[in-house]
Amino acid sequence: MKRLIFAAATCGILSACNPSPKTAAETDKFDYTVEQFADLQILRYRVPGFEELSLQQKELIYYLTEAALQGRDILFDQNGKYNLRIRRALEAVYTGYQGDRNSADFLALEVYLKRVWFSNGIHHHYGCDKFVPGFSAEFLKQALQQADAKTLPLAEGETLEQFCEVIFPVIFDPTVLPKRVNQADGEDLVQTSACNYYDGVTQQEAEAYYNALKNPKDETPISYGLNSRLIKKDGKVQERVWKVGGLYTQALEKIVYWLEKAEAVAETPEQKAVIAKLIEFYESGDLKTFDEYAILWVKDLASRIDFVNGFTESYGDPLGMKASWESLVNFKDLEATHRTELISHNAQWFEDHSPVSSEFKKSEVKGVSAKVITAAILAGDLYPATAIGINLPNANWIRSAYGSKSVTIGNITDAYNKAAHGNGFSEEFVINDTELKRIEQYGDLTGNLHTDLHECLGHGSGKLLPGVDPDALKAYGSTIEEARADLFGLYYVADPKLVELGLTPDMEAYKAEYYTYLMNGLVTQLVRIEPGNQVEEAHMRNRQLIARWVYEQGKADQVVELVQREGKTYVVVNDYAKLRNLFGSLLAEIQRIKSTGDFEAARSLVERYAVKVDPTLHAEVLARYKKLNLAPYKGFVNPRYEAVTDAHGMITDVKVTYDEGYAEQMLRYSRDYSNLPLVNE
Ligand code: ZN
Repeated sequence: MKRLIFAAATCGILSACNPSPKTAAETDKFDYTVEQFADLQILRYRVPGFEELSLQQKELIYYLTEAALQGRDILFDQNGKYNLRIRRALEAVYTGYQGDRNSADFLALEVYLKRVWFSNGIHHHYGCDKFVPGFSAEFLKQALQQADAKTLPLAEGETLEQFCEVIFPVIFDPTVLPKRVNQADGEDLVQTSACNYYDGVTQQEAEAYYNALKNPKDETPISYGLNSRLIKKDGKVQERVWKVGGLYTQALEKIVYWLEKAEAVAETPEQKAVIAKLIEFYESGDLKTFDEYAILWVKDLASRIDFVNGFTESYGDPLGMKASWESLVNFKDLEATHRTELISHNAQWFEDHSPVSSEFKKSEVKGVSAKVITAAILAGDLYPATAIGINLPNANWIRSAYGSKSVTIGNITDAYNKAAHGNGFSEEFVINDTELKRIEQYGDLTGNLHTDLHECLGHGSGKLLPGVDPDALKAYGSTIEEARADLFGLYYVADPKLVELGLTPDMEAYKAEYYTYLMNGLVTQLVRIEPGNQVEEAHMRNRQLIARWVYEQGKADQVVELVQREGKTYVVVNDYAKLRNLFGSLLAEIQRIKSTGDFEAARSLVERYAVKVDPTLHAEVLARYKKLNLAPYKGFVNPRYEAVTDAHGMITDVKVTYDEGYAEQMLRYSRDYSNLPLVNE
């Protein structure tokens, strides 16, 4: 099942290696970059189309963004029980420090705090390892002693000395709570994970608790454990439910307050019902109500404005049950959605004309029309780091009975692309000006289009022969499946049909996608692999598989070459038309493998082309990448919304501004949305 998706072209660590540049002159004046520290780059995104929304729609978005921001502390506490106290202590030092703000210790504390903000806690948002502070315990202690006592997060009657005794090992001792989510096989994953979803229970107790609740015959099971912490109290394992009147009530009450305001200005009765049901869920904590809400939500397709607000994804729980809190408020990007609908409406034509053998084609194919949305705010586990695509709800039975909503976030993708323009990446790795200019001109467009073709058509095309086990390709299945979808997109991005449909401007455009695809698959995606490792991740394997295969197969005709220039390796594409034919041939073969469940063929293709890394090339690429000084992880500051009111307090407009800095925004959020107490038990 696909939960939180990253669009095909840019899965995983986004845009660090996203090769779609554009010259500074061609982008508008909007500054998409904010700052860079540690392994992080902070970007900002814009919200095109917001001004054109009706006043009621703007008002609705405004209320939903407030409901989104009110939940911030929940995630900090979910990610670790000391996170809120640590964040507030560091903020007290950061804002009030009277000593030398340019000292190495203070600067290191600043970076540490910025990382804590970014991760919503003291562990890396992606790798889950605890941060190593670059400042000393002595420095922090002194700084805390000098700080205004009123600003320190001391519990009732607690001295600073006592506070430090509790908190310092958590910050400074690498053996204390080292990993937020531990997945190491054989260990007690619950007890060795620092996340705050369990307290005083072992993995065995947690599993036993939930197994006892589950009924294997239940065809519509609730999402057990989704909205609670599992604790042991008086020797008894029990849940502390996150709800109004329960754990996190202080934040949830505020969320409900703003949701009620949103409900009053909902666009449609269906949307109103969605919001009302969510409020009911927050108030009762009843997971049956949550499922009712999810069903109403997935069925509401007519509303322009949409949102996620709640306990959603369970990646942060080593047992995969408990959901972190997140929110995303958005509205449909009508123009971009038209693009995916156009592709989707022509799905049969694409299926009929594909280079795949006719016995493997679907006689009736339905395209998926993924909606493209514009994010208005990111919050909780979608902030500052975010996905560029989302597919919800997660409950399997709801997905099969009612479907799911699949969205790609257009303005976030756009911000990644724009921020990458001029960062030196393409200039370093693209062979010459001709390719570079073409990529500048068409790269964003064809990159998006390739993703659309992959998502809307690629995965849904073709069929299995009768009796073929859908899991026949086993561990190679996902690489082959992604390759199939990518190849479908690659083959068709170069089709005159796209020009006819107005999706590409001319027959030059596809070359930008072809070049960047091969450059990525043959060379630049290696920047994401540690020295000595092989290619593991399915999307990365699929890209190398495709790129290596066409490179090898086209060798005799010199279709694609790898050339050396001053010790640097570059991709050269000599014949784009032949390259397209090679993509077509590989698509036909990959579809045959899938349709017939040819495990041996899948294995030999993947093992031969997709896995191995040339250590010399790898070292070269890593060295070139390092010189560019690019951060592998990105996140965003949000725009700022301000309600303009008249003399009676009625909202007359909502203004959106983009000038807030990173620390500035984080401190504002900490000031205005610190809803939870220091200890949440
Ligand atoms: Zn895919």
